[in-house]
Amino acid sequence: MNEKRYGMILIVSGPSGSGKSTLCNAMFKEFTGLEFSVSCTTRAPRGGERDGVEYHFLSREQFEKHIRQDDFLEYANVHGNFYGTLKSEVYDRTERGTDVLLDIDVQGALSIRKRFAADPVFGPRLESVFIAPPSYTELERRLRGRGTDAEESILKRLANSKHEMTFWREYQYVIVNGELTEAQQAFSHLIHSLRTKSARYKEAPFHEA
Ligand code: 5GP
Repeated sequence: MNEKRYGMILIVSGPSGSGKSTLCNAMFKEFTGLEFSVSCTTRAPRGGERDGVEYHFLSREQFEKHIRQDDFLEYANVHGNFYGTLKSEVYDRTERGTDVLLDIDVQGALSIRKRFAADPVFGPRLESVFIAPPSYTELERRLRGRGTDAEESILKRLANSKHEMTFWREYQYVIVNGELTEAQQAFSHLIHSLRTKSARYKEAPFHEA
């Protein structure tokens, strides 16, 4: 946390198999003042997932109430379930200088940009990075390597991933995750650089006398 600046809203997307979650978790370990935005979802928790930690697990009714109240920065239907980012997850923290990382899909990222890029409060806080696998062949190898999924579900995820990959230019930054430690280093350097952006400073970061 740095009280002299607004935190950034760091949007991270990438297809399943890109290693996005592993990379994000490495960043949370490395950086103080970088926190995860806990999304709302209508999907059921998977084994080990805790309400309020990985997601806020909501009923369809509860989710729709948030939509009506305009509580979401963005929301989208991903693979048949609703997912959304609450404004309350990012507003207070970025006001105080904490950086907030959003792991969201391509639709959500585009919708935030469309709605908030020119917003005087949220616009200057937005940053976006796309995590890509080195190739489709490698993506397929990684998805199959997980082992347990049925062929039909693998093919569906592969098709989704290929579609998502076409959006990489919509992001300001792209990190190719071929070798994990290299990708981790690139991500880390990016965050360090983004923290120096003068536009997000509320006051001079140095003594003016
Ligand atoms: P999973 O169900 O595997 O946790 O996530 C499925 C997809 O939903 C992932 O691509 C993830 O990035 C995306 N996702 C998670 N939270 C949000 C959110 O708040 N908004 C949007 N648009 N996508 C999300």
